[in-house]
Amino acid sequence: MITRSPSVLQSQESTHPDVTPLALQSAWQAQLSQAIRDPGELCRRLGLDGGWLPGAERGHSLFEVRVPEAFLSRMRPGDPQDPLLRQVLPLAAEGEVVRGYVSDPLAEADHTPGRGLIHKYAGRVLLIASPACAVNCRYCFRRHFPYGENTPSRTQWEDSLEYLRDDVSITEAILSGGDPLAASDRQLAWLAERLAAIPHLKRLRLHTRLPVVIPDRVDDALLHWLSTTRLQKVVVLHINHANEIDDAVAAACERLKGAGVTLLNQSVLLRGVNDSVETLANLSERLFEAGVLPYYLHVLDPVAGAAHFDVTDEEARELIAGLRGQLPGFLMPRLVREIPGEASKTPL
Ligand SMILES: *Cc1c(COP(=O)(O)O)cnc(C)c1O
Ligand code: SF4
Repeated sequence: MITRSPSVLQSQESTHPDVTPLALQSAWQAQLSQAIRDPGELCRRLGLDGGWLPGAERGHSLFEVRVPEAFLSRMRPGDPQDPLLRQVLPLAAEGEVVRGYVSDPLAEADHTPGRGLIHKYAGRVLLIASPACAVNCRYCFRRHFPYGENTPSRTQWEDSLEYLRDDVSITEAILSGGDPLAASDRQLAWLAERLAAIPHLKRLRLHTRLPVVIPDRVDDALLHWLSTTRLQKVVVLHINHANEIDDAVAAACERLKGAGVTLLNQSVLLRGVNDSVETLANLSERLFEAGVLPYYLHVLDPVAGAAHFDVTDEEARELIAGLRGQLPGFLMPRLVREIPGEASKTPL
């Protein structure tokens, strides 16, 4: 739900963490490169019965499995309905053609002034810092863009930086992806330094799932460049269920806050994962315990292969009404949809 542009994805440098020489890998990069990428292994590791495997292989052929160990460890073995497993386990249903579910639901290519950059909303520009992700979420709209694993090239960055320098109305740079934290800290520190040198920029925002999927991603190298930039920092995490927040994730949030980061969360409303008032209330409570405020609850982008996750608008509104009856206002996420061509997310 984070990356919005297939057109940025041709690149020259091969600096993806997966190809960093072993001896130079950070702990998180090693965990990323050892992620489970085989549907059979995923089923075995979770003790699922053999009936799940053909579907998992079918789904995997459409969008490959990727699940790091640290995320797997929060799932209940033997439970095919586990809310974390459901987000990453491929199913035969992904191969069904459902009317209205398309491969590019957000029609993004129209909004890209330069490769690697999307400027749709006033005052803020989204930069694709890394097209790679630490986990492959089955409901992701980017499942149909198998665009390789390379980070953008320096030249591409220079073009994006020039675009930001030339438009004084831009006050916020949003690093997105894929997952921007799949890029190395060397690259990110370089970028943060150049962004900080643009006088009209106030804020640096990151949209990332990595601190949730691999909490060790929040290491000293990351905290160093984050805590030294003059820009105000916002990290928008992506967490869909309270079970995703174990002690290691809470500790990673604590470290980010220690570096002066404001923490927010966006979720996607997913059938079978978080489509109940109780589950959503628990998520908000658990987020706040970890120092994170709920920001957006997105309805599903109608991407082909994800129709089985759909929750109707009517159900979504009922859930939000139920949630409002239980939570303080500051723990209420904003229920939104992304509509191509609109100048902001659209509240439901
Ligand atoms: C979602 C999004 C943003 C950020 O929107 P906020 O409402 O500020 O969180 C910015 N640019 C693009 C292209 C987006 O899709
Ligand atoms: S982390 Fe998941 S939802 Fe986000 S861009 Fe990657 S695959 Fe999509």
